[in-house]
Amino acid sequence: MTHPAQPKASHFINGEYVEDTAGTPIPVIYAATGEQIATVYAATPAIVDQALSTAKEAQKAWAKMTGTERGRILRRAADIMRERNHELSVLETYDTGKPLQETLVADATSGADALEYFGGLAGSLTGEHIPMGEDWVYTVREALGLCVGIGAWNYPTQIACWKGAPALACGNSMVFKPSETTPLCALKVAEILHEAGAPAGIYNVIQGMGEVGGALVTDPRVDKVSLTGSVPTGKKVYAAAAEGMKHVTMELGGKSPLIIFDDADIDNAVGGAINGNFYSSGQVCSNGTRVFVQKGIKEKFLARLAERTGNAILGDPMDEATSFGPMVTENQMNIVLGYIEKGKEEGARLICGGARADMPGYYIQPTVFADVTDDMTIAREEIFGPVMSVLDFDTEEEVIARANDTEFGLSAGVFTNDFSRAHRVIGQLEAGSCFINSYNDAPVEAPFGGVKASGVGRENSKEAIKHFSQVKSVYVRMGDVEAAF
Ligand code: NDP
Repeated sequence: MTHPAQPKASHFINGEYVEDTAGTPIPVIYAATGEQIATVYAATPAIVDQALSTAKEAQKAWAKMTGTERGRILRRAADIMRERNHELSVLETYDTGKPLQETLVADATSGADALEYFGGLAGSLTGEHIPMGEDWVYTVREALGLCVGIGAWNYPTQIACWKGAPALACGNSMVFKPSETTPLCALKVAEILHEAGAPAGIYNVIQGMGEVGGALVTDPRVDKVSLTGSVPTGKKVYAAAAEGMKHVTMELGGKSPLIIFDDADIDNAVGGAINGNFYSSGQVCSNGTRVFVQKGIKEKFLARLAERTGNAILGDPMDEATSFGPMVTENQMNIVLGYIEKGKEEGARLICGGARADMPGYYIQPTVFADVTDDMTIAREEIFGPVMSVLDFDTEEEVIARANDTEFGLSAGVFTNDFSRAHRVIGQLEAGSCFINSYNDAPVEAPFGGVKASGVGRENSKEAIKHFSQVKSVYVRMGDVEAAF
């Protein structure tokens, strides 16, 4: 019998599901059991061409609609997503393995927020009037054209919406390629947008591995590429986009610092460290994986952290009591286990976890290492799994320098009850998305994105509009034209 997660077809192009079984089969594996639940096929060159040509053509009429009309469609899609939240959350759990406890509140809901927010903004994307004496200049905020979105596997619904909603609000069309690991959810986003009234061809989804992404990025019909992925992929995609002088947004990886001063509320700081390391089993780009704890409270912090981490419930992700799910794939599990071994070998002190959980599926115990030093591999490389490194520090000046000593710059957090210090420290941290006495909040109203190797551009908020549109300026002369001859 066909599994309920099996989509109608692999791709969604020009307002309908499209299949082409000539492409490479991509098995969809449920991470909690290891069983294959669905199959999709990578896009063939013919499918890539069909998606791009349909999106290029459809964009012209879409951009001519008023912003209010476009916005109404996006807001209708948001309503449909909220109505179907349970069904979409179950699919997200099948796609990623993340527990339903999380997906019910963090995925389709976050996607719906983006559709609603950018739907609301669409009608107010205006230019400026700039007086020049009798003459004037006016500016027009125009769509870029055809945008490509390429997603990572940790938030397949959210990423499809975070890219699609601002792109469509500005009058662009989109071809979205999900990660081959999680191909299911973006198809539902396309289906819902279409049901909400998006014209055929405005939002298309095609499957495939890196080579399909590469074909999209290098196609001359494409005006913009928005990628969520790792730094090495980001460098490749950025370089390929530069060849065609295309706009880019790069949402890449991190190794973010979370700094806890000795005057912080310990339970809140422990909660922040748990949210910033163990949510989605640690598969979150903005995680605060280098937890710097001031020496005075170190042992107290570790004791409370170990106690609360022990409360994680590993189990069936479809059981709403489960609070901690598996790694997305066997491969990702093995990568993370490799880092855990490195942490042990390099002399970090294991506080809890440290091994695969004794159950089917790709589960790793939530793991905390203490006495981690700046040069250890687990403190330098992005692990993308449930492995927290606790480092200690003495002074504010020292911790700022050490926190910034990384190629990454996605996020940073500070816990302290001294608000002058909180702002002073955050002001000096080289990161795009920061938190004071909190960690990993990502409301659609706030800009999200990194500095340094963690990326360029911003998603969400009014900032995202700038990255999915361009400004035309028009000088209007009222009098005669003076010329030299
Ligand atoms: P990858 O970089 O491996 O892949 C990202 C996407 O790019 C996938 O769809 C992938 O396809 C595609 N891709 C790979 N190679 C190319 C290429 N040459 N040209 C075009 N597309 C290509 O990342 P993961 O999927 O493993 O996701 C984890 C990474 O994403 C982590 O580093 C994480 O930090 C980052 N991330 C960043 C976020 C942010 O907002 N800053 C949020 C979430 C994750 P395929 O995999 O199918 O081959």
